[in-house]
Amino acid sequence: MFLILAMMARFSYGHDTATYDVKHYDIHVSVNIDSQSISGYNTMQCLMLKSSNVLHFDLVPSMKVNSVTCKNVPLKFIRKLNKVIVTLETPAKIGEIIPLNIQFSGKPEVAILAPWKGGFDWKKDAQGKDWVGLACESKGASIWLPCKDEWSDEAESMDMYLTVPKTLVGVSNGRLKEVIQAGTETTYHWQVLNPINNYNISINIGDYVLISDTFRGLNTLSLDYYVLSYNKEKAIKHFKEVDTMLRAFETYFGAYPFPEDGYKLVETPYWGMEHQSCVAYGNKYRYNEFGFDFIIVHESGHEWFANSITAADPADLWIHESFTTYSESLFVEYTQGKEKALKYLQSQREKVMNKYPMQGPKHQHYHGWKDNDIYYKGSWVLQTLRYSVNNDSLWFTMLREMGAKFRHQLISSKDMVEFICKRLPGINTAVMHQYLNHASLPVLSVAIKSSRGKMYLEYAWLSDEKNFSLGLTIHTAAGKFTLKPGIGKKRIRVPKGFSIDDVKKLEELTLIKVGVM
Ligand SMILES: [Zn+2]
Repeated sequence: MFLILAMMARFSYGHDTATYDVKHYDIHVSVNIDSQSISGYNTMQCLMLKSSNVLHFDLVPSMKVNSVTCKNVPLKFIRKLNKVIVTLETPAKIGEIIPLNIQFSGKPEVAILAPWKGGFDWKKDAQGKDWVGLACESKGASIWLPCKDEWSDEAESMDMYLTVPKTLVGVSNGRLKEVIQAGTETTYHWQVLNPINNYNISINIGDYVLISDTFRGLNTLSLDYYVLSYNKEKAIKHFKEVDTMLRAFETYFGAYPFPEDGYKLVETPYWGMEHQSCVAYGNKYRYNEFGFDFIIVHESGHEWFANSITAADPADLWIHESFTTYSESLFVEYTQGKEKALKYLQSQREKVMNKYPMQGPKHQHYHGWKDNDIYYKGSWVLQTLRYSVNNDSLWFTMLREMGAKFRHQLISSKDMVEFICKRLPGINTAVMHQYLNHASLPVLSVAIKSSRGKMYLEYAWLSDEKNFSLGLTIHTAAGKFTLKPGIGKKRIRVPKGFSIDDVKKLEELTLIKVGVM
């Protein structure tokens, strides 16, 4: 119930947050590990989109707002559940930048099971030293940080001053600019020069050592790994995979999207998270049955799909997860070939449920997915498109152009669907809508007919979307032939010896069902 109220509060004022665009966060946060509390301030640079004397930002009620000031002038504010509503002394004009300084403190929500049931993750490492992580994708950064907690508005840059006990190291996104020692504490100043969404803002504290390397790909890129001191030797060997991963993803998706901020892995007490230029790594240096570290590959894939190309509404989360889950199979294709990649995809296929649509409801900070179809089904939608298009050069050109066109942008399902349909011949919006907005799979209904000693295949598509159709190539012992896309019942001559089983094989190669008329 409280959750529902909090959600309502968060969005009933939603239109007012269109008053300004966040340009920059200047975050100063001191972490008290013993009391599991934090304190500090965030100065938000707010570019006014409307003239107004009221500004809203978000912070959960359990966190305290100690003061709100603008250029040292204290401002009046009231709190309504997740919202803090601030009144300026005089109305701000369109185009004006208002620096809103918010002092805050409190005990932020503790993660029950990070990264899924997120919050602050207060743990000890194997040597009994404090080890702290943060993951808040579904709950939002306002569980700890006063901010405009909406996916539709990313700060264009960020400074983070993270203060931790001097025996530990504090790691956040972007590049380390400065380390300031004061008494028993150390402040680490991290800087991000690219747009970053709120859930990616990361805090990591541990007995870290730094391993540095360089990737010479499309650009020269610094690689920094912050790992627990006792894992240093293991990490030096294990993280060699990063080079191959970056090479694979640059081949398929274009250059690493945040060269100014560098690439970073930081060892976390939880499994993983795509924190931008500070990827959370907690897979304990393990390989999967396909011989790679799933977390390095999946979470880094998100640098392209989630961090560079970002959904403006969590309802469109399939954009992040489908492409990233598919990117795992491309990593296998890059390192072990196409056949092995198909095996990898088939291991994902077993997890597709087809119970709910992948598209979530808009404008309600939706995070209610009941299964993992936005991952595995999404990956299989992409495999299906590629199979249908049957032109790898065109397919990979489309992926690279997507990386360039939507680089550092906030987009919607509509933008992505339009882009795909424009670039892939034979793929129409009905195909994408069938997979995104409906749970059930399209059925290719077929029958074998013979007439005057010749064999024919009759076929038609059955699906929720009336205009659904896919071109599909069928391989038989006597050669291959292609079912052309189109609606209504169609008929095509098939080679001798053809059987329904040849059509059935499409179920292993694409995300369709084959039914007999
Ligand atoms: Zn993911």
